[in-house]
Amino acid sequence: MYNPSLSGSAGNSAANSRLYIYEVSGLRDLQSSNAADSKIRRSGSSFITVPYQRMNQEMRRIASLGGKILSIRPFEAKTESTSVENTEPMSIQSTEQVVETSESAPTEVAAAPAAKKHADVPVNIYRPNAPFVGKCVSNDGLLADGGIGMVQHVKFDISAGDLRYFEGQSIGIIPPGKDAKGKNNKIRLYSIASTRHGDDVDDKTVSLCVRKLEYKDEKTGKEVEGVCSTFICGLKPGDEIQITGPTGKEMLLPDDPEANVIMMATGTGIAPFRAYLWRMFKDNERHANPDYSFKGLAWLVFGVATTPNILYKDELEEIQEKYPDNFKLTYAVSREQKNAEGGKMYIQDRIAENADELWSLIQQEKTHVYICGLKGMETGIDAALTNAAIKSDVKWSEYRSQLKRAGRWHVETY
Ligand SMILES: Cc1cc2nc3c(=O)[nH]c(=O)nc-3n(C[C@H](O)[C@H](O)[C@H](O)COP(=O)(O)OP(=O)(O)OC[C@H]3O[C@@H](n4cnc5c(N)ncnc54)[C@H](O)[C@@H]3O)c2cc1C
Repeated sequence: MYNPSLSGSAGNSAANSRLYIYEVSGLRDLQSSNAADSKIRRSGSSFITVPYQRMNQEMRRIASLGGKILSIRPFEAKTESTSVENTEPMSIQSTEQVVETSESAPTEVAAAPAAKKHADVPVNIYRPNAPFVGKCVSNDGLLADGGIGMVQHVKFDISAGDLRYFEGQSIGIIPPGKDAKGKNNKIRLYSIASTRHGDDVDDKTVSLCVRKLEYKDEKTGKEVEGVCSTFICGLKPGDEIQITGPTGKEMLLPDDPEANVIMMATGTGIAPFRAYLWRMFKDNERHANPDYSFKGLAWLVFGVATTPNILYKDELEEIQEKYPDNFKLTYAVSREQKNAEGGKMYIQDRIAENADELWSLIQQEKTHVYICGLKGMETGIDAALTNAAIKSDVKWSEYRSQLKRAGRWHVETY
């Protein structure tokens, strides 16, 4: 197992003087906003040298310009390079100018004791050509007054069939009707928001947390509603719904009740974490699962736009009050809270604020990390953890790959 004390610590000041190479794709306007001699390759990636102190700031700037950070690595010059010595402003380099980086000493990540073969996990009990027809039991709004958009908690009766599932899996929903090409509408996947026993702990239901997709088409200027999410959000009790699955083994909760479970969610990405937290802490669930009495640390970092958009807020806070030693709850409310630089508070800012503590937890053999929600949220999380890991002389991207191989790093973004 990786032992930070063996690898030596670079310490804060050393880390602060270091440079990192961001590999970035999809940048639109960086040329005009940066130094005149900056060059972006017409295809492929750009490479940006970033001093440690400006990592978060630069990350936000890249995102605002439509760029995607593909990787972050410490700059370790084997030979001198004039462009990277000039740390301010950041320089953009062509691939050829980037000095080869030497690999950091390999670190070993222990496989989670709970990592299992998942042989007993149910998958694809119902397939698209023979879906299960369930019934809507209830459909409740999850946003408080003033919340942006529409997000619903929808419960389906599955008692008439054989649909079984575990926390962290998804189901497919086939919306009725045809698509633009006249073909039957295709399946959309949704993370299951209830425990395997269902919200009523009677093994008869499955619940989802669904945001109605609404956006303005830039070409036509028309408001567009998502096909399946609009269908689900409009269901009434008694309405029928075609369900497939369950699917997915990526987001399964470890069996070990002493595992630490770090959860990072944006918006409806809370769905699987609601299932975990209910299994860990709800009284009736604890009764139903005598062999799973959670004793680890569960830490939810939850990013939303406004306070009324904090899904399941009352219940999350109730759990926190009842289990303060086992459940930590951290919100990032982008339109209300400010980050350290006075900008909007996004999930990556909270991760950055808590990076040292998170890094220390992540190094523990019993810790699993789960990320769920908006595509692209991993980039900011990676940048924050890169900063923390480098203080232990660890290259985060390598360490994260090892965590993944060890079955302790779980991502589901959409
Ligand atoms: C594993 C997994 C789990 C998921 N879990 C959940 C969940 O728990 N809750 C949840 O709400 N969703 C979840 N989703 C997303 C869900 O599957 C659907 O993609 C979502 O509900 C939209 O489907 P729709 O039929 O309403 O939209 P569609 O009618 O399919 O429209 C979607 C399309 O609209 C276009 N579009 C979307 N936004 C814009 C925009 N701003 N501007 C221009 N075009 C745009 C894109 O082309 C996009 O493909 C999950 C997805 C995956 C893969």
